[in-house]
Amino acid sequence: MFVDHIKVHAKAGNGGRGCVAFRREKFVPNGGPSGGDGGRGGSIIFRADPNVDNLVDFYYQSNLKAKNGEHGQGKSCYGRAAEDVIYHVPIGTIIYRMPFEAAGAETAPRDTETYIDLGTLSDREVEVLEGRKVRRPPVNPAELEVVADLAAPGQEFVLCKGGGGGKGNVHFKSSTNRVPTQFTEGEEGEEGEFYLELRKIADAGLVGYPNAGKSTLLSQISNAHPKIAPYPFTTLTPHIGVVELPERYSRVTVADIPGLIEGAHENVGLGHDFLRHIVRCKLLVFVLDMAGTEGREPLEDLQKLRKELDLYDTKLSERPWIVVANKMDIEGADVKLEQFTTRYKKLEVFAVSADRGDGLDALKKRLGELILGVE
Ligand code: GDP
Ligand code: MG
Repeated sequence: MFVDHIKVHAKAGNGGRGCVAFRREKFVPNGGPSGGDGGRGGSIIFRADPNVDNLVDFYYQSNLKAKNGEHGQGKSCYGRAAEDVIYHVPIGTIIYRMPFEAAGAETAPRDTETYIDLGTLSDREVEVLEGRKVRRPPVNPAELEVVADLAAPGQEFVLCKGGGGGKGNVHFKSSTNRVPTQFTEGEEGEEGEFYLELRKIADAGLVGYPNAGKSTLLSQISNAHPKIAPYPFTTLTPHIGVVELPERYSRVTVADIPGLIEGAHENVGLGHDFLRHIVRCKLLVFVLDMAGTEGREPLEDLQKLRKELDLYDTKLSERPWIVVANKMDIEGADVKLEQFTTRYKKLEVFAVSADRGDGLDALKKRLGELILGVE
């Protein structure tokens, strides 16, 4: 499973309470205070890890916790601090803070005028109201505050800080108070709700050998001047085209990422960097030179490309994918296409000429369906 956005709840550990104790020794009948401090609570820390490519771990574990610090002890012993908990997240994880009220906070409606006593309503009305409560609106990251953008390998962010330990009674001794019974509680660990989002390059990624026609295709189906946005987590310069889908009042983004060459999984050339970003696209579009110019063989090209991706990450073969059979305007391409579709009967193949603009409407329509869902 590939998870690129998720909500988590996080609670850091509380600090341990300070201790009230007195020295009790055989020949020291009135020993002074000896209550130690509480230990610090554990913090929750995110670390950007190049070996992690998506947020699936949080799907199984969305409640993040760190332990409380131990309470202080007698004989001036400190309580032990709790360990920080470090969660590994993909490079390019953006963290947003969500509105959050801790349990126990005032939850009653402030405006009594609009307060609805469910007991006064019919079952049907309650159902409607509760249904509304349950169907929470989807999270819109644009309305949330960004608290961190983990763009560099190893970069860390303290999501929730552990509470400091309380003070033991050793701190409260004075000339007027030799038997202090004061201490302080440990601080509460921070708590909050966060929305994690994996910055992706585009909805769909074009995969193909050099000269298959990726750039030509992108310039034909998207806005003429692909915007090259800064992507701090990559050394590649992907060309992103925005494909307008006017009949859906919508748009999808397609990336032409240069550089898939054989041996990419062994990190030849731009290998890994390329593959890491391909992993983040919802849909893979394999662009083949169906005319087989430059002595290429489309059937073989597809197998090699698929194998290259599979060697890098077997999960990639589960990603939805389609094939664009390009250069159909060239003589002989139709024969090769025939062979190709006989061999791959179940594949979705779009025969196009990127150069001439043939067959692109059907391709755009399908991109919309696969990325935005069928209406
Ligand atoms: P890329 O390396 O995959 O980005 O390939 P390009 O888009 O740069 O195209 C490589 C070459 O193939 C260029 O000379 C294009 O003009 C040519 N080309 C691309 N699409 C077509 C097509 O549909 N028909 C023909 N005849 N040539 C094409
Ligand atoms: Mg190109």
